[in-house]
Amino acid sequence: MTFENTREFARQLDANDELRNYRNEFIFPQHEGKNVIYFTGNSLGLQPKRTKKYIDEVMDDWANLAVEGHFYADKPWWDYQERFAEPLSRIVGAKPSEVTVMNTLTVNLHLLMVSFYQPTKTRYKIICEEKAFPSDQYMFQSQVAFHGYKKEETIIEIKRREGEHNIRLEDILAKINEVGDELALVLIGGVNYYTGQVFDMKTITEAGHKVGAKVGFDLAHAAGNIKLDLHDWNVDFAAWCSYKYMNSGPGNASGCFVHEKHHHANLPRFAGWWGHNKERRFKMEPDFDPVHGADGWQISNLPVLSLAPYLASVEMFAEVGMDKLIAKRDKITSYLEFILREIDVEIPGTEFEIITPANPKERACQLSVFLHGQGRSLFDYLMTNGVITDWREPNVIRLAPVPLYCSFEDMYEFGQILKKGIVRP
Ligand SMILES: *Cc1c(COP(=O)(O)O)cnc(C)c1O
Repeated sequence: MTFENTREFARQLDANDELRNYRNEFIFPQHEGKNVIYFTGNSLGLQPKRTKKYIDEVMDDWANLAVEGHFYADKPWWDYQERFAEPLSRIVGAKPSEVTVMNTLTVNLHLLMVSFYQPTKTRYKIICEEKAFPSDQYMFQSQVAFHGYKKEETIIEIKRREGEHNIRLEDILAKINEVGDELALVLIGGVNYYTGQVFDMKTITEAGHKVGAKVGFDLAHAAGNIKLDLHDWNVDFAAWCSYKYMNSGPGNASGCFVHEKHHHANLPRFAGWWGHNKERRFKMEPDFDPVHGADGWQISNLPVLSLAPYLASVEMFAEVGMDKLIAKRDKITSYLEFILREIDVEIPGTEFEIITPANPKERACQLSVFLHGQGRSLFDYLMTNGVITDWREPNVIRLAPVPLYCSFEDMYEFGQILKKGIVRP
């Protein structure tokens, strides 16, 4: 498709956009009486209008039923998470029994590492990506220290090649083979938070399994953003937060995936009463008998007020379906890329280097742009002119044109604002 950097063209794309009405399902912060241009749905998604109803429902049940709400609310609290199994499993390409919602992301990754990182004298190493999200790095360091290993000898980072911004698949596979028998676990982000690079999870999982390692993914930037087939890819485990692309609100519940093949295995885990045999949970028995399925990793009774907004969101995603979202995602991301390139050419002395892979198979809804020749003042200018984006050292802004609520006209408008803010040499 050939694009044009005009308002008329952008409006035409919006008029033909099947998802255009979903924009009205969200609440936008206002700037001078207009919706902001929101590029940080990869950090905190906007609030869907329907969310309040889901929370009010719990508040009303609590007011009217108090403790009885556990069993007699319209959506009883004691098994509230079961409402996610069907729609959420479709979003991540899993069987309903393979997903659950609980806790928050880093907590869940720790809990899953308890089950899937079982180091031995000879097999104890972990492969992760260089410059992984800091929380993941702290997690790896504390996990290996907990097991009595030194991080320098245990955590192996896959590096970018000199002068490159992205990690090559061939380098990941080579490292997996090199570490071989010593490799206990591969755990990387499905989509890199900084560059937006999408990893080939199927191939990485195969390679990890071939050398006898377990393979898991941190899907913080992948859930609700890319097509996932966790079951078919044979991934051992995964977890994601729900407040980025999935719009569940700040710090709300995380989703987990545990492959079916592990449900009956007697994996070590940290247990609590909510993972215990559902029929017998309230018999208060002394011995733990885990639920078969991802729900068997539950620990505490459910944070229903944190789950309610996530349920609102999961139902919206199920309604739209990932295929439509992905089709719009690719189009709007390409349109944004086109506009950035136009401005780059139009204004001498600028260089916007898009460090996100150009190959559509290796990227999703994010362009990370290195602003050569521009400084933090450009970012500050955008923020005070109704464009919400984020700044990462040394000189990168991340732009996520989220398909559920960003419009093509937003991309055009952004280009116009950006042009005015560029410092010309
Ligand atoms: C956002 C993000 C997190 C956040 O972790 P929380 O436990 O939800 O605070 C972790 N890992 C990655 C890769 C992220 O992008």
